[in-house]
Amino acid sequence: MKSVAVIPGDGVGPEVTREAVATLEALRLDLKFDHLDHVNAGRWLTAGVAMTDDDFERVRASDCVLFGAVGDPRVTSVEYARQVLLRLRLELDLYVNHRPALLLHERLSPLRDPDRRNVDLVVVRENTEGLYVGVGGVLRRGTPDEVAMDQEVNTRLGVSRVIDYAFRVARRAVCMVDKSNAVKHGGQLWRRCWSEATAKAGARLATSHLYVDAAAMRLVADPSEFDVIVTNNSYGDILSDLTAQLVGGMGVAASANLNPDTGFGLFEPVHGSAPDIAGQGVANPVGAILSAALLLRSQGYGDAATAVEQAVASTVAAGRCTPDLGGSLSTEEAGRAIRAEL
Ligand code: ATP
Ligand code: MG
Repeated sequence: MKSVAVIPGDGVGPEVTREAVATLEALRLDLKFDHLDHVNAGRWLTAGVAMTDDDFERVRASDCVLFGAVGDPRVTSVEYARQVLLRLRLELDLYVNHRPALLLHERLSPLRDPDRRNVDLVVVRENTEGLYVGVGGVLRRGTPDEVAMDQEVNTRLGVSRVIDYAFRVARRAVCMVDKSNAVKHGGQLWRRCWSEATAKAGARLATSHLYVDAAAMRLVADPSEFDVIVTNNSYGDILSDLTAQLVGGMGVAASANLNPDTGFGLFEPVHGSAPDIAGQGVANPVGAILSAALLLRSQGYGDAATAVEQAVASTVAAGRCTPDLGGSLSTEEAGRAIRAEL
């Protein structure tokens, strides 16, 4: 028996999470759900708290989390996201952000050359440090001499453990991406950890290194070159939106926030709360459903995960999907079509 904490969150989060949960239920596995529907922006706005310590303990007591999205146009403070998603990522030390990109159908590729469309890669994004740690400050605020600084933090432990993970999940090649020619100190730490990891790994996998600007260019020129890309928090953020667009856009991108040492994971679509389409019933549930497939695989239900992925691929191929993928189904109809295929 595995227990899944479910946090649908805001905007399209609840709409797509509902379909992901229904998909998991349709498999009739030994899963128990703990629903935390109240962790959302509405509660933050009325009670000034989104996730209490009690909620956090419920999450910690589960085996994994299925997450929708947090974000609301009425909430301007970054404190809300910090209290929910960042707290979970940091306190549960979910140091890997695993973001696969797989082209489900030719027509979803924005690339012209059919020989270069094939995408089946994973961006492994460092998830707990880098430029997003919130270290820095502002000097002489509001004056013409104002200076704003954000420090990038890279630790040897943080860098080496995420690179080790990339080697473990790669099938044929690992490419490390940095900007060590311009961002010296952190960049050189990444290069040293990378050299040590490649020496340890031997010849099983092809290894390469790219500066992030060149990686962005190569990903558009010929994404079929890539298998696993490992990089820091900010480059991983940016490159994984790029790779999502190579396979059909934000509606299909799935992710896993993992601590490979404890086995704990938080699974969420890459997209956010999408306030521009929330409440219209048109959000694509595929990103959330493929995140649920990643959850299944991490919890030991590999065959069920593959079945979900295949059901998604065949419904999308048949055009039974939401408008962002060229179909005309609603969120719920798209979810139902996938379950029917299952
Ligand atoms: P947040 O601040 O919560 O990250 P955001 O404003 O960055 O939200 P995203 O949710 O990341 O917005 O969405 C970016 C774009 O992708 C929006 O135009 C949105 O409509 C579209 N989009 C996001 N999710 C989906 C989805 N599930 N299906 C279809 N389109 C989506
Ligand atoms: Mg966003």
